[in-house]
Amino acid sequence: MADRTNPPTRSTIHAGGEWLEAVSGATREILDPADATPFAVVAEGDEKDTDRAVEAARRAFDGGRGAWPATPVAERAALLRRVADLLVRDREELGLLESRDAGKTVEEGRVDIDCVADAFRYFADLVAAEAPGRVVDAGSPDIHSVVVHEPVGVCALITPWNYPLLQASWKIAPALAAGNTFVIKPSEITPLTTVALIGLLAEAGLPAGVANIVTGPGHTVGARLSEHPDVDLVSFTGGLVSGTKVAQAAAPTVKKVALELGGKNPNVVFADACATDEGFDTAVDQALNAAFIHSGQVCSAGGRLIVEESVAERFVAELARRAERIRLGRGTEDGVECGPLVSEQQRDKVEAYVASARAEGAVVRSGGKRPEPSAQRPADGYFYEPTVLDRCHREMKVVREEVFGPVLTVETFRTEDEAVELANDTEYGLAGAVWTADAGRARRVAARLRHGTVWINDFHPYLPQAEWGGFGKSGVGRELGPAGLAEYREAKHVYQNLAPQPVRWFAG
Ligand code: NAD
Repeated sequence: MADRTNPPTRSTIHAGGEWLEAVSGATREILDPADATPFAVVAEGDEKDTDRAVEAARRAFDGGRGAWPATPVAERAALLRRVADLLVRDREELGLLESRDAGKTVEEGRVDIDCVADAFRYFADLVAAEAPGRVVDAGSPDIHSVVVHEPVGVCALITPWNYPLLQASWKIAPALAAGNTFVIKPSEITPLTTVALIGLLAEAGLPAGVANIVTGPGHTVGARLSEHPDVDLVSFTGGLVSGTKVAQAAAPTVKKVALELGGKNPNVVFADACATDEGFDTAVDQALNAAFIHSGQVCSAGGRLIVEESVAERFVAELARRAERIRLGRGTEDGVECGPLVSEQQRDKVEAYVASARAEGAVVRSGGKRPEPSAQRPADGYFYEPTVLDRCHREMKVVREEVFGPVLTVETFRTEDEAVELANDTEYGLAGAVWTADAGRARRVAARLRHGTVWINDFHPYLPQAEWGGFGKSGVGRELGPAGLAEYREAKHVYQNLAPQPVRWFAG
């Protein structure tokens, strides 16, 4: 196990098949967010390490007939399936590592690893089942015209800290399935499982240089990857500010850019969904889950409750009662339901949003503060109580901006039109939900929501087979589904004339 999920300390840069320290020798301590103690040390790469990794990925891509892009699809798919099997083998260790690194509960960590394995299997099956190209009718028996899809080239993959390995897998699996080589830069605060995955890819038999990783910060490693002339595509998941910088850095080299950014996701509850006790209980329970799973550090978190006025008071009272009972603590402890926030910086940000909401007139119905330390909650951990903010309105900063923490705002509406208008009044457009017992209303509202995923009477599920991504400032492009594979490909039209003749356009 030690070799698989604990790669050599400090040597967490993988380029051309070798584990390396940073050229500068710099390192970074990785903190356990439950008590702020360091529990791992990784290489702190910079531009020089990035260039070395890109060079390795370039060589592996341009390697000719035996290289990864030329490997038969069936072999690529088989390798992805072997990776899925290795993930299943190491599920416990990787789930635990993800829990300690990102602060989530171990159970969430395990679920993440299952989802990572599913992503590898899905993209293996997708490429294996594909036709090799699309024959186009050119209108003549002498013309053979076919459109084929080829790998883009060297891909730069940049990922966030909330779902470190899952977000990585949504990029790595399709990139490899399509025949690309890549350099990944995980978040500098949660790199450990991604480093471990690079080890598993090698163990599964991926040739040296195809998968490379540089651990290090965004402003050096991420920025260099985005601008690098030998990178053909950059796929980024993270916040709007960093994503904008990536797009700007990538523009001069006209590389392909895919951005999965933040969200401000509405959860719209109609009174008719709460007409029965079971309906009410389900809608409250799911609203709680939508907002507070992983302490709200989810891009699609349902942090914006938009509830019909006639049921609002009852709904919010029950929500606040249940939010107060959520068991906060170290994610590795039994019985804990929610871990700490990922970092001190993240908790500071959440506290600033709650302060601004109070100043703008929001009423705190639960939480709004750090919890008392306990045996399960060390005083130095970055804990924050699940917070329900009532009497919010759409001009408030806390309603307009992504909080990325355990904060739920409550707005009310009276009519269907008003509900839709509120739900669409955001610069983002990642995900949203509608709760109603009226099937016609459900379809009408879903059709009008300007969000990349719409749930009806549910919140949070996603399917590897279905595209994931955002409208508006939630991003560009899609992950998962066939479109998630298409991101990593270029279409090429091959037109073959079987009976060439002079054209005689020019007389001379
Ligand atoms: P972040 O933008 O701070 O960092 C994301 C990654 O970008 C990190 O690896 C970081 O080092 C790197 N980075 C930072 N500055 C960079 C730069 N100038 N150039 C290149 N790379 C740079 O985001 P975060 O705080 O790690 O993650 C939280 C954000 O991610 C939230 O906004 C969340 O909504 C978003 N997210 C979106 C999705 C989605 O599917 N749309 C999924 C998960 C997270």
